[in-house]
Amino acid sequence: MSATPLYPLRFEPILKELIWGGRRLESVLGKTLGAGAHYAESWEVADHRDDVSRVAEGPLKGVSLRDLVRERGEEVLGPALGPRAQFPLLVKFLDAHQVLSVQVHPDDALGRKLADDNGKTEAWVVIHVEPGGRIYAGLRPGVTRDEFAAAIAAGAVEPLLHQFEPRPGDCILIPAGTVHAIGAGVVLAEIQQMSDATFRVFDWGRLGPDGKPRQLHVAQALESTDYAAGPVEPIAPQAEPIEGGLRERLARCPYFALERLRLESAAGVGSAERFTILLGLGGTAEVWHGGVGARLGFGQTLLLPAALGTCAIAPANAGEAVVLTCVVS
Ligand SMILES: [Zn+2]
Repeated sequence: MSATPLYPLRFEPILKELIWGGRRLESVLGKTLGAGAHYAESWEVADHRDDVSRVAEGPLKGVSLRDLVRERGEEVLGPALGPRAQFPLLVKFLDAHQVLSVQVHPDDALGRKLADDNGKTEAWVVIHVEPGGRIYAGLRPGVTRDEFAAAIAAGAVEPLLHQFEPRPGDCILIPAGTVHAIGAGVVLAEIQQMSDATFRVFDWGRLGPDGKPRQLHVAQALESTDYAAGPVEPIAPQAEPIEGGLRERLARCPYFALERLRLESAAGVGSAERFTILLGLGGTAEVWHGGVGARLGFGQTLLLPAALGTCAIAPANAGEAVVLTCVVS
């Protein structure tokens, strides 16, 4: 595959069935699901243990992201990142048909120590909210480790959590150490470090598929929680006009930076310095490389390898296309 020119890469979604999932990955985002009732996550770009994305179309169809990073790392990742053993970002869509467990993720040091995994800082971009949908993000001000531990022991965690009703388009950054849960009826895109290190503290009294409560990880969660962090609110986007439309700066952290493009005509996207992941969040866009257009519909994802440099992107039809761009910061 070393001689095959790179192009905007579309991957096969990796679908995850979990107790809290539903059918909105299909009904809202247009994914093709099987017959199950609990589709929770669609991993769009992943290189984590047994979950490795494979190219869905074109000359590299079937090639894994892991092999692309191993064999063509500099072309895919870009010179700004340097050599990496693993693709650094995990991008997924989530359908919280039911509320997710209240959980916290470790930072890199605690992730290695407690879960043999990377740390997990994540960000959400809300796509769809049923009436009354909630986001729980951060502990209320002043909650101590002792108070949090007592609430977990009593099964009364919710009153300690900061919560709000999200709106479509909201972007929420959840640094490692932030206690959080996604409420029922929320569909969102999640961009995160390549990690699955999750410590559950409360599962709302729910039973797992086997009829037993799902495992909690209270000691690890208490150790991983940042008690000084406090409530988390949606980010107020900073918008600026660009050629072709508007660019909004959303979450930025040491691991990734997110921007939302609202395109009415052609613009440039991508950089020779680092890869860019594109998520279609409204309308349909087309990304042009080497005279070939790749469609980016609502709920779809493309990876632009760094070697492509800057590509042209434009709405495929009259009207606006909304595209989220994700890069390693
Ligand atoms: Zn999480």
